[in-house]
Order: sequence, then structure tokens, then C-alpha cells
Amino acid sequence: MAGIYVHIPFCRQKCTYCDFTSFPNRLSFAEAYMACLYKELSLRGKELEKSGKEVVFDTVYFGGGTPSVIDPELIYGAMKQIKNCFPLSKDPEITIEMNPGTVSEKKIETYLRAGINRFSVGLQTAIDSQLENLNRIHNVRDYLYCASLLKGKNFSADVMLGLKGQTKEDVEKTILIAAESGASHISMYALTPEDGTPIYTDYLNGELPDADEVASLYDFGRKLLKEKGFFRYEVSNFAKPGKESRHNLNYWRRGEYLGFGVSASSFFFERRFTNTFDLDEYMKCVISGFFPVIESEKVEKEDAKFEFLMLALRTEEGISSKGYRDAFGSDWKEDFAEAYRKTKKYLRETGDRTKIADKYLYVQNRILTEYMS
Ligand code: SF4
Repeated sequence: MAGIYVHIPFCRQKCTYCDFTSFPNRLSFAEAYMACLYKELSLRGKELEKSGKEVVFDTVYFGGGTPSVIDPELIYGAMKQIKNCFPLSKDPEITIEMNPGTVSEKKIETYLRAGINRFSVGLQTAIDSQLENLNRIHNVRDYLYCASLLKGKNFSADVMLGLKGQTKEDVEKTILIAAESGASHISMYALTPEDGTPIYTDYLNGELPDADEVASLYDFGRKLLKEKGFFRYEVSNFAKPGKESRHNLNYWRRGEYLGFGVSASSFFFERRFTNTFDLDEYMKCVISGFFPVIESEKVEKEDAKFEFLMLALRTEEGISSKGYRDAFGSDWKEDFAEAYRKTKKYLRETGDRTKIADKYLYVQNRILTEYMS
């Protein structure tokens, strides 16, 4: 099984922490961009057909940017084109990211008509002043309206940690609002202040919570989510039973995926490749009938082994020794004997599976570093 990712790079305005490929001033290009995207889908579909490779796509994910900011008929058109160009499984998971400040009943009706059956809503925090600091376009009331339109549907809410002045009470309020509004999945992740974003100045001025404070907010949030029936299945992802994101699980299981749109990356045909980050270049390339790829690399076996471990160790299911043996014909504990010896005390092993013990999740990167050498 494989996945399809579609990048919609438009936003109303830039959030202060945003380092993603998104263009706040170019919404008027949405129609032209989507026409190019339909063409890119068709080019790749033809290439796949010609290759004779047998594959079924089990997930589609519209991310951004803000996919919900553009005319929903353009999303409908993209889904139609995906169905024309690629074999989908019988019951694919089809997700769209939504900013609560951009939703309407009509948009959701169109998404449902397109076959979308999962929604990922960017709540971030239930404290209006914090949303304002982040330059988000929505407030908590917008989120509640959005959640009311999604009542009874499968939706996820994003919760952000490490905001200026954020307390445990703020995190509690945010998680409770997300859980009580009907979300079946919550992504709780730490803000990463990237150089060049406005929030980086706050970071340099020491105005953001430090790593220990964020770790303590995470630990608090993790326990509260558990009480509310959300189980951690990846470092930042928590779900009610059976509501895990199949699209993300495919990434972490090192499954194949094709990415479409500006800056989208793919892992397919044993290669990792990435599209241009430049919107104009993307459109020119596709209009001329070329793939807009700027980087392409074959994944060598040793890199693939490391990727397998690195991705699996992010998840609750952890490394499957059998899965590794089936993929590479060897034992991971022998291939990475030195790293395994050094990190054994941080790991929990049950039968075929090995994962990072819960209390060491926050030193995950240090543990993974041992496997890099
Ligand atoms: S909505 Fe998302 S992609 Fe758009 S500016 Fe904000 S963080 Fe960036």
C-alpha cells in the first residue's frame, strides 16, 4: 500500500513560526496552480502505468499551506483527477488540513462529495491571546464552529506546546476543548523556532519556554490525553482506538508515497525525490510537460536500514525484528550492535518489538544519534 500527498501552498497570512512552503499573497494563483497540479498527477500516473509497477494507494492527504483556503471545487477536481490517474484501495483514508478560520458548511459538503473522510484541524491553542501572538487567522470560537460542522465525523486537532507564556492550565484547557469538541485524534507537538521566522526573535530573547519546560508540558499533556482515552501511537500523535492516521503510519513504516505540488517530496521507485520550492518554476515546469523535481536520490541499503530504525523508533509499535529481517535479510541488533549496546537501557523489548521506553521519549534524538554513526 502507498500514499499520495498533495501540497496546497496558499495561506491568508503568515504565522509567526511558519517555515513551511506557503505563499500568503498569491491566492489569486490558486486556479492556475491547481491546473498544473492536475497535470502533474496525470504525468506521474502515466509514468506509473508505463513502469508496470503494481501498487495500490490507500491514503490521500491534502496538506499545506492551508488547503481549506482555496475554492473547495478545486479540491474536488484534484480528487477526481487522483481517482482517474491512480488505483485507490477499496476504502482509502482521505484527509484534508483545515484552518478553523476558513471553513463553511458548503466547503465541508464539497469535501464529503469529493470522498474526503478525515479532517485535520489546526486548533493549536485554546487561548485567544496566544493565537493572536502566533498571527493565526482564527480564534477559539472559529474552532468550535468548525468542530460543530464536523460533529460525528473523523477529525483530528493540532495542539502546540512551547508557546510564549504557556502554562499547564493552558495546555489542559486546549486538550479538553479538543477532546470535548469530538476530535478522535490529537497531534500534540512542540513549536520549533526556526531561524528567519519572526518567533525566532522571541526565542533568542529567552521569551519561549526552554526544553525542560516543554518536556514537562508534554508529559502533562500526554497523561491528560491518556485519561481522556487518547493513546500515543507516535511521539506527537494520540488517537482513540482505531483512529490512528493511516497516512502517517505509512510514512513511519517506510511505506511508499508520491507527493504532488510545490515542495512536495516522494519516496517511490526506491528513490527519494523533491519538487521545486519555487511556485513560478513549479508551474512553468509542469506546463512544459516536465516533472518539477529538483533533487532525486536512490536510497542505498545502509541508509534504508537506518531510516527503518529511525522511523520505527518514533512509534509506539517500535521496531519489528521480523519486519527488518524480511526487508534486509539481517538482524538489526547485529547490524547496529554498538548503538544497540549503548542505547539498550532506554529501550523496552516485548517479543518481536523494540521501542523507546515512555520516560525516555524526550531524549529520543540523542538515542537516534547513536544509530547514525
Ligand atoms: S497556516 Fe500553516 S502553512 Fe499557513 S502560514 Fe500558518 S503555519 Fe504556515
